[in-house]
Amino acid sequence: MEQQRKCAIVTGGSRGIGRAVCLRLAAEGFDIVLGYAGNDQAAEETLEAIRALGAGAEAVKGDVSEEAVCQALFDRAAEAFGGADVLVNNAGITRDGLLMRMSDEDLDRVLEVNLKGAFRCMRIASRLMARRRSGRIINMSSVVGLHGNAGQVNYAASKAGLIGMTKSLAKELGSRGVTVNAVAPGFIDTDMTAVLPDKVREQLLGSIPLGRLGQAEEVAAAVAFLAGPDAAYITGQVLSVDGGMSI
Ligand code: NAP
Repeated sequence: MEQQRKCAIVTGGSRGIGRAVCLRLAAEGFDIVLGYAGNDQAAEETLEAIRALGAGAEAVKGDVSEEAVCQALFDRAAEAFGGADVLVNNAGITRDGLLMRMSDEDLDRVLEVNLKGAFRCMRIASRLMARRRSGRIINMSSVVGLHGNAGQVNYAASKAGLIGMTKSLAKELGSRGVTVNAVAPGFIDTDMTAVLPDKVREQLLGSIPLGRLGQAEEVAAAVAFLAGPDAAYITGQVLSVDGGMSI
């Protein structure tokens, strides 16, 4: 008998870690709805790569901090693939700087995208998944959310907040058969980290026991595990993928 396909929504799925998550889940039998902010070319390339793996692929362009954009992701999943089985809240931004020079806007924007975007998507997912009595929610936190980092007070707050939401929602949805977990990547080789000055990169590398940056595919493997059958009894957890940075 042919196995029924599943569908995953991946926010920020056009580039970096999100793209790797899309490709890994597509390879494991998921159809994908990816969200992205504005880079059409990256989104198009990722859609093509997903389809080349034989999976269905749809994209929703827009700011994940807007409720209507979050809703559009779930509407597209329902229309194209019969609803989402997995939600990966991966969209994220940084606006780094020392707190003494950080504006309210720098805090608000990072919280709006990283924390409230995920909050809104989780709220929609929790209603739908609770009704279905199954589902997986995976939130992209960070080593910075666990341990803090100078120059990232706003980002750390958003990523620590995600961990609190993950654990609370895991308690709310456990009885409905829905698991909620977080992944906490360390220093991963993507556009987000490409902008770091060489000096900062060298310092960071010195703090990683495995002595190298992580690859987006290595984070995607952890997401695929949490989305898959082997993680059915795991909820409310934070899985670090950081080369030992957080030891
Ligand atoms: P990235 O390469 O900068 O990609 C960011 C993705 O998010 C893109 O698809 C982007 O869309 C999308 N996005 C950005 N702002 C958005 C918004 N307002 N609404 C909707 N989508 C938006 O980032 P990354 O390095 O892969 O990081 C992915 C996640 O992992 C983030 O949550 C980040 O905080 C987390 N993380 C990363 C690292 C690391 O070392 N890279 C470490 C720990 C945690 P466009 O392409 O359209 O711009």
